[in-house]
Amino acid sequence: MTSPPRPASRHHKRPRGEGQWALGYREPLNKNEENKRNDDGLNVRQRIIDIYSKQGFDSIDPADLRGRFRWYGLYTQRKPGIDGGKTAILEPEELDDRYFMLRVRIDGGRLNLAQLRTIADISERYARGTADVTDRQNIQLHWIDVESVPAIWEALEAVGLSTTEACGDTPRVMLGCPLAGIDADEVIDATPQIEDTVARYIGDQAYSNLPRKFKSAMSGCPAHCTVHEINDVAFVGVVDEHGEPGYDLWVGGGLSTNPMLAKRLGTFVRPDQVHEVWAGVIGIFRDYGYRRLRHRARIKFLVNDWGVERFREVLEKEYLGYPLPDGPAPELPRGGRRDHVGVHRQKDGNFYVGFAPKVGRLDGDKLRLIADIAERHGSDRVHTTVEQKMVILDVAPGQVDGVVAELEAADLQVTPSTFRRQTMACTGIEYCKLAIVETKGLASRLIDELEERLPDFDQPLTINVNGCPNSCARIQTADIGLKGQLVTGADGRQVEGFQIHLGGSLGVNPGFGRKVRGLKATADELPDYVERVLKNFQSQRGDGETFAE
Ligand code: SF4
Repeated sequence: MTSPPRPASRHHKRPRGEGQWALGYREPLNKNEENKRNDDGLNVRQRIIDIYSKQGFDSIDPADLRGRFRWYGLYTQRKPGIDGGKTAILEPEELDDRYFMLRVRIDGGRLNLAQLRTIADISERYARGTADVTDRQNIQLHWIDVESVPAIWEALEAVGLSTTEACGDTPRVMLGCPLAGIDADEVIDATPQIEDTVARYIGDQAYSNLPRKFKSAMSGCPAHCTVHEINDVAFVGVVDEHGEPGYDLWVGGGLSTNPMLAKRLGTFVRPDQVHEVWAGVIGIFRDYGYRRLRHRARIKFLVNDWGVERFREVLEKEYLGYPLPDGPAPELPRGGRRDHVGVHRQKDGNFYVGFAPKVGRLDGDKLRLIADIAERHGSDRVHTTVEQKMVILDVAPGQVDGVVAELEAADLQVTPSTFRRQTMACTGIEYCKLAIVETKGLASRLIDELEERLPDFDQPLTINVNGCPNSCARIQTADIGLKGQLVTGADGRQVEGFQIHLGGSLGVNPGFGRKVRGLKATADELPDYVERVLKNFQSQRGDGETFAE
């Protein structure tokens, strides 16, 4: 006779699993999950309007300050003067300044001149003139105080912009090709699908409590400029066997500490199905995503554990209720650079002019100047790229020289060096609380040095500079990726420096850069180090060989 099951003792621990809601683990397993369960991040908006903006910084509930504010693109910035050695040892509140970074989401990178001028106004009026274009097509402002936030929202919303879900455990900005609709070679214009998906789901509480952030891309760009390989979900333009344009679905890409490339599910998604397929994928993430440990809470871990067959089956059976047909893989991107810098013809006979602010750093004056230049030459659109660059669209043939001359005069280069064109830097210690080293200034100086030392270098070459082990500037996919950390200087003291990753790339032969053991450089040594590497490459490269090869 078998004995009856014993009642669970007080000391018996139930297996906690990974905190997946769909498996019944609804009890929060960490502080972040508890905060999200206690109140949805989107609800903080009304408190900002009614209470915090009126009563000031000290009235802000800490759970809102370090949690829910992110649902509206607001992060406290780093208190000035705290060096990188203190990042890991201080409590979060000791690093908090009383000012915020504010991220304006720009879905598809699409801005008209009224929107651009509004951001310029906000930059000058509330953000001490700051404005950085990010590598996810957003614009970030700094030095925002909480008292100003309602007025900023009012100004942004009046021109159709928002900060809703620009940060936090939410569906963040949707990447799109800045040339969507005008590129003669594009497979499909994804603008309607981006706009439709944003309108339906951004700000919807059904998708505002995710295990962590969720990054999307939708594009038919032949250069694959939206880096679909490293998004949580990506819709990549393809043409099916009947000649109909639609999308190939990719899931599970992401960088940071466990980088993984996205995987194809092998399905064909019609344009009218995109919004529900997107909702299905994010629904899987919400319900099955791992919530126990923050560092395992991205969809890439689930995709990796399940494999693409199971993921597709769950998507079709549990979320869509219908099977998706198999579909073709995208064409390989055209070689070389994936950005849209320079002067190129649009399909309507006009031209677009892509230009390179240095490492995405602009200011309110420059944004206004860019809008003025565009307007003087008959354009109403200035789009952002995923390379911290911008593009003026719809320039008539007779106006191109004027646009180029005015941009170049403002140091917004249309024919930049490789170094200016392909160096990116994250926010770094200037404002970011996680940073260990300074980035933007260093990357700018590195560009200047390399332009002077290697004036003839014209190979495609990406240099991405990060201020910490996170990967906001995509170090693993760069030819030369620089991960900020403290290193030992010549005199034995700890100084700002970088772990060096070499040979990362996306596109034809995607792969992550190799972390070369022991290969570190202090910030001061960096120009010498990069110059040496590039001179070696130049002297040893075979015909047509790229740096990654
Ligand atoms: Fe901050 Fe690190 Fe991201 Fe740079 S990579 S912005 S330092 S979190």
